[in-house]
Amino acid sequence: MPGGLRPGFFMSRFSFPMILIVISLSIPKWAQSQVIVSIPPQKHFIEQIAGDQVQAEVMLTPGESPETFSPSPRQLTRLAKARVYIHIGVPFERHWTKSLQAMNPDMKIIHCCNQFDEVTKRLHQGDVHYWTDPVFVIQYLETILNVLIELQPENQDLFQSNLQAYQESLRQLDNYIIGQLKNLKMDHFIISHAALDAFAQRYGLVQLSIEQSGRESGPKNLISIMTSAKAKGIKTIFDLEQHHTRTVINLANQLGANIVSLDPLAQDYFTNMYEMTEQLLVALGKNE
Ligand SMILES: [Zn+2]
Repeated sequence: MPGGLRPGFFMSRFSFPMILIVISLSIPKWAQSQVIVSIPPQKHFIEQIAGDQVQAEVMLTPGESPETFSPSPRQLTRLAKARVYIHIGVPFERHWTKSLQAMNPDMKIIHCCNQFDEVTKRLHQGDVHYWTDPVFVIQYLETILNVLIELQPENQDLFQSNLQAYQESLRQLDNYIIGQLKNLKMDHFIISHAALDAFAQRYGLVQLSIEQSGRESGPKNLISIMTSAKAKGIKTIFDLEQHHTRTVINLANQLGANIVSLDPLAQDYFTNMYEMTEQLLVALGKNE
């Protein structure tokens, strides 16, 4: 016997219910999930509508970027148990949807953003951060609602009333942002990756992205950013953890600018949108 254990040791030390608990703990958490989503804000959206009635699992591992993320084979195996995968238009969905569907032909894929603004999509080479626009989210929640009702028709009334309350909060958020971003000193801002594209488009701001199409900036782009920054007196560079590079630091040094962290992937979407608006407001300044 390895370790000199007596026969029957495990049965005598671990009772039957204990064994059941161990077995249930060993079933991967993902296997119990019904819905897979790509990024943390989507989990928040589902929770707002379904509370704890539906389990959603986020595909993106914390700290990874939606532009380059690859799930591990283990993660893909876990995904094979989900009933639905709701997209939000991030680049890794394009690469992994076929593999997932091959492993789990019964899993329904809900494509989110085909109907939204083909021009914007082409301009950003398929990397549009739609969810940073609350008006997009108000509409997108209808897609989520339909999926949830299909999963749990008995909860339709609950889901619908939750949806309406959350959409109302998002309308208030939209109005708040419009009010806050009125009468600004500047309308240009610098960011390490173009993650506020949809936000900037919605609220009439100009985003100068250090990365272009997910690649390090070339000299031409950097010179153009520097020229604009000097002309407009930009003193802030917004930085995303996943896109923090030497170029961000060098540019900040050359402009005498502060580096301010943003996280458009934060799960608490609602609070985060208020916080990002405040950070933009400080950087852009308000005319009194
Ligand atoms: Zn991106």
